[in-house]
Amino acid sequence: MGLQVAIDGPASAGKSTVAKRVAKKFGYVYCDTGAMYRAVTLAALQQGLSMTDTEKISELAKQIKITFQPAEPEQRVFINGQEVTRDIRLPKVAKNVSAVAAIPTVRQEMTKQQRQIAAEGGIVMDGRDIGTTVLPHAPVKIFMVATAHERARRRYLENKQKGITTTSLEELQRAIELRDQKDSTRKVSPLTQASDAIRLDTTNLTIDEVVAEISKIIKK
Ligand code: C5P
Repeated sequence: MGLQVAIDGPASAGKSTVAKRVAKKFGYVYCDTGAMYRAVTLAALQQGLSMTDTEKISELAKQIKITFQPAEPEQRVFINGQEVTRDIRLPKVAKNVSAVAAIPTVRQEMTKQQRQIAAEGGIVMDGRDIGTTVLPHAPVKIFMVATAHERARRRYLENKQKGITTTSLEELQRAIELRDQKDSTRKVSPLTQASDAIRLDTTNLTIDEVVAEISKIIKK
């Protein structure tokens, strides 16, 4: 049976790219927990719910079925069988997701589902609270960081490549910093490094270098 690998860190630190590659290398399942919070946010927006209506959003989080399908270059995401891979990356979702992720009952439901996914075997799970809350006993915990400028630059290039229209690099950096601030200061499971996590600053590292570093840690 494979290991549980928890990868946490701020927005756009390269977690999902690296996590996907590590999962493939070791034959583990990959789980993007951010996509789950984004899916709940998208569903709430689609239903015209107010982002402050915590009760209705919590109810929705329990009702909808979020599923993944492995695909290249990006894992496909579905809500009740309907593909939302692209829509969950829309700026309006990014803008509202921190508010939805701060609702305790939404987190409880997502954490429950994430633990069920992790119980199936070797897993690489990325997010904000995996090492601290979802899988506190994971034998491998990584906390990935990079400067806000570098993270915005990477996201800008990625969006361009995918043909997603974004704002300027400066605005993107401001949006990323704002999301980090909200994620780090919320009351439930804020973004923090687990005491037993290994901190990896990827500002000056290539994806291959980060994958190699994490692979070394897994094989230890
Ligand atoms: O990873 P990604 O940037 O797609 O995550 C979107 C948002 O989902 C984060 O900004 C955060 O508010 C929330 N999130 C979370 N806990 C996780 C994963 C994501 O609160 N484990």
